[in-house]
Amino acid sequence: MDTAGGELVRFEKVVKRFGGNTVLDQLDFTVDAGKHVTLIGPSGSGKTTILRLLMTLTQPDEGRILVDGQPLDKEVRKKIGMVFQQFNLFPNMRVLRNVTEAPVRVLGLSKDEATERAKELLEMVGLGDKLDAYPTQLSGGQQQRVAIARALAMRPKVLLLDEVTSALDPELVAGVLDVLRDIARTTDITMLCVTHEMNFARDISDRVLMFDSGRVIEAGPPEQIFNDPQQQRTREFLSAVL
Ligand code: ADP
Repeated sequence: MDTAGGELVRFEKVVKRFGGNTVLDQLDFTVDAGKHVTLIGPSGSGKTTILRLLMTLTQPDEGRILVDGQPLDKEVRKKIGMVFQQFNLFPNMRVLRNVTEAPVRVLGLSKDEATERAKELLEMVGLGDKLDAYPTQLSGGQQQRVAIARALAMRPKVLLLDEVTSALDPELVAGVLDVLRDIARTTDITMLCVTHEMNFARDISDRVLMFDSGRVIEAGPPEQIFNDPQQQRTREFLSAVL
């Protein structure tokens, strides 16, 4: 199936349960290539579970997930990169090696190729002068920017962002969001973000999906969701977080 410019991610009637708790309830949604889609909604509504399913960190109980027209498996999963709330850098490796490690080991790039690409990416996230630092020598915001470079080094088609600023001190949030805004503006990467940063969501999103209890209760462009929400539940949620 040729999906160039078309649909890149598809959830079809996806059900996910933990014990007796139905966390995703017959969930259907799609994300088109190159688009930036933001998932918003109350805590516990299933947003992170969606990203974890895409990373194959957990499996659906029912339904199916397609990426680039193919059922999600280990190979297809390589098209997806993720940045976590807790940066999860390799603490024993310098910044540069954090970014070259997976491209060399998983993609089979030569060390030189991986290094060249890592330097470009670290420059792009504003850390061209920190190649030899260890993660603990960096601020949380800098560590998160390394994590973003590390995810991009795998050349994913889809970048998943899971509340990437929520573990940061407030003064470090803007630097990370600025880097992500730049990436959204200057690359053709598809983004799927879970965030509580509503201004950021408004800036970068092509579409916003509002979740409640494992379902999409409202979806649309950010102007519509933020300025003219149709659902009472969306209005309540936004008035609590804005
Ligand atoms: P959100 O990201 O919207 O806050 P999550 O996807 O993290 O929501 O969680 C949805 C629901 O699934 C919550 O009730 C959470 O407690 C439950 N849940 C998530 N992961 C697990 C797990 N590994 N085991 C049991 N329950 C889980």
